[in-house]
Amino acid sequence: MGKLDNKVALVTGGNSGIGLATAKRFVAEGAHVFITGRRQKELDAAVKEIGGNVTGVQGDVSKLADLDRLFDTIRKQKGRLDTIFVNAGIAQLAPLGSISEEHYNQLFDINVKGVVFTVQKALPLMPPGSTIVLNASIVASKGFAAFSIYSATKAAVRNFARGWAVDLKEKRIRVNVVSPGVIMTPGLSTLGLTKEQEKGFIEGMVAVTPQGRTGVPDDIAKAVTFLASDDSSYVNGAELFVDGGMAQI
Ligand code: NAD
Repeated sequence: MGKLDNKVALVTGGNSGIGLATAKRFVAEGAHVFITGRRQKELDAAVKEIGGNVTGVQGDVSKLADLDRLFDTIRKQKGRLDTIFVNAGIAQLAPLGSISEEHYNQLFDINVKGVVFTVQKALPLMPPGSTIVLNASIVASKGFAAFSIYSATKAAVRNFARGWAVDLKEKRIRVNVVSPGVIMTPGLSTLGLTKEQEKGFIEGMVAVTPQGRTGVPDDIAKAVTFLASDDSSYVNGAELFVDGGMAQI
């Protein structure tokens, strides 16, 4: 028996990194998973890699028409959605003094607006007892140089779970947040660091992590599967840090 047998799931940004690892785990636990991503080629490759019980739908989470097309596809193919992992997001750096309007808009459009409308548009498909897992980050609770806008987007995500757990009380839908530490994914390369800076960043983070290592995408996928499944039946509005202890000390 799988933890998600016969469930219909959505993983946004499911073609790479944490989202891809989670989509694989969801399928291994018995779900049919819809994954999204912006680039068709990467999406097709991920669908092939996952192998079965998966449907790829190309789209940008910051574009409401793309979200409408996504949920229309899910409605037509499956008629319902039991669990969603709202994972698509980007990380970019800019220290105060160098924050451009473009930087601000891009991060808030994808990481905040994308999350709000993904969840809102998914709701009509979600039966009572469904689960929502939002991907935030330890940065929502910490201060790191040049991370302020990204961190603010993730602080918004963390707080959505508090409000939405109450909004969805009548529907009996649980909303929880996973907050990863430093996880080795292709997303790290979008920070805009040189290879040398990236190495220094990772070494610095490992040095302040009690487990003495960075995380792998499957570390997060296991925690998301817990929050998405009945294993977390009385966990609601919570934030689960999966960071090797880094933000806990
Ligand atoms: P990644 O780059 O490997 O994956 C990001 C995914 O999001 C990709 O599938 C990409 O296509 C998708 N995406 C980005 N913008 C999109 C958009 N506008 N529309 C649709 N899809 C879009 O990176 P990752 O590290 O796996 O990141 C996944 C999530 O985890 C992000 O929300 C990120 O903020 C969060 N996170 C990552 C880390 C880490 O250390 N890697 C730590 C904390 C939180």
